[in-house]
Amino acid sequence: MKRRSLREIFNSRAVKKAHRTTLALAGAAIVASCTTLQSDSHLAFADQRPAVLAPCPPDTAPPKPKLAYAEELFRQNDSAPPSEAVLRMSPEERMQYYMKKFCFEAHTAANDNDPRDQAVVAALNTLSNVTFMGKPLVDLADQEHLRLCALRHMPAGTAAQYLASDTFVAAGQNAKKQGQVLDLAHEITHAAQDKQGLLRYGYVWDIESRVRRNLSTEAAPVALEFAVAYEKKLSGDDSYWEYLKKHDANTAYTSADNHKLFEDTYNAGVAQGASQNDALRAGARAIFERVFDSDDWRNFYLTSELNSYIEDIANGKFRLFTEIHRGVFDQDEVDKAGKIGSLPSFTEGARLPAYAALFRGSQKMQWAYEAADIERHRQALGADHATVRAMEKRAADNKNPYTGIDFAEVNRRLGDVRWSSRFQSTWQVMDEVIKDRANPKPAPAPAAPCLPAPKPPSA
Ligand SMILES: [Zn+2]
Repeated sequence: MKRRSLREIFNSRAVKKAHRTTLALAGAAIVASCTTLQSDSHLAFADQRPAVLAPCPPDTAPPKPKLAYAEELFRQNDSAPPSEAVLRMSPEERMQYYMKKFCFEAHTAANDNDPRDQAVVAALNTLSNVTFMGKPLVDLADQEHLRLCALRHMPAGTAAQYLASDTFVAAGQNAKKQGQVLDLAHEITHAAQDKQGLLRYGYVWDIESRVRRNLSTEAAPVALEFAVAYEKKLSGDDSYWEYLKKHDANTAYTSADNHKLFEDTYNAGVAQGASQNDALRAGARAIFERVFDSDDWRNFYLTSELNSYIEDIANGKFRLFTEIHRGVFDQDEVDKAGKIGSLPSFTEGARLPAYAALFRGSQKMQWAYEAADIERHRQALGADHATVRAMEKRAADNKNPYTGIDFAEVNRRLGDVRWSSRFQSTWQVMDEVIKDRANPKPAPAPAAPCLPAPKPPSA
């Protein structure tokens, strides 16, 4: 997943998508909205005086069936809600339907004439002419029949995304062709990582292993973007290198120190007799270790990992296991994060900062992680377990305001925030939950009796 530039996020505020996909309300959901009329006595009441009862309004909050993320993404991009015929398909058939509508396979790019895909096709062609750092990615995409989906609407703060669940790249629109090429390079690097088994985690993994996995698999494609941009510069087109410097402010991409580091590392490699290919990889490795210094970058990916952790908490996944495995994503795994095709990985031996250092400068992020981890340990070990008690004691000493927060509620709100135009850290959503708990809204007046809609024959 590639973080969208701050400039793009700012611009997107003006074009907030007004249309939100809603599920067609099934008859059963409408009936269920008049729960007070389901008992016989109320129905009898309704039967006696049908003329004075207005029809029940459609329920505004029926329990919606939870969509798989990939399908939700496609629906957000579809111009109309799915037809009855599409809704009747199995989830697998529906994914095939949407992929046919929005995606093409990388190896068919040469024959792809669909106007909606052309920016992505052009980016793929450009990348295939970047001999050392780009072409191996395109070769991999060809071999794997990777699907590329040209999508306009992406989750808040996300420029592009690789979905391991369905092996496709959601290529968001980038106004700059340089950005489109680098976004694509970033996402295909994730496809390479998927082949290495790096895009999965187990529910027994501890939080630190999950964070190491997420952050190292995200730092590698950033480093690769530097190498692609620099190789373009070496071949006479410096617009990619200049794009990286300017496309945002105060990020891992634009840091002047990082650009100098890459160039110095490259030049030192060449001076010592390294090939251009090896010197580019040495530069990428140096950047990989430096990406963790960016507050902006850490905030985005620490948020994405924590949101995923909270979703697992809300879904009760940690109740299924009493074991918690530590140190699962170790150096061997980090080494593979920069491996593309048969070339040596550019992340081999690269170091990650210590877990505690990742929260430097963000007390709220550290609290949010601590509170979620306590909840996970409660689920896995039980509330009375000595480990849980010790964690709670530490959090209390640490004045953690998020301990014991309602994670089901946090998760529900995170689902809403995802499709808004504004990226929010997890702790911002947690702050809102706490604020609303302190100032509960007055309970709505009881609904007047109403006449339930008849059930359709098929319901
Ligand atoms: Zn990414």
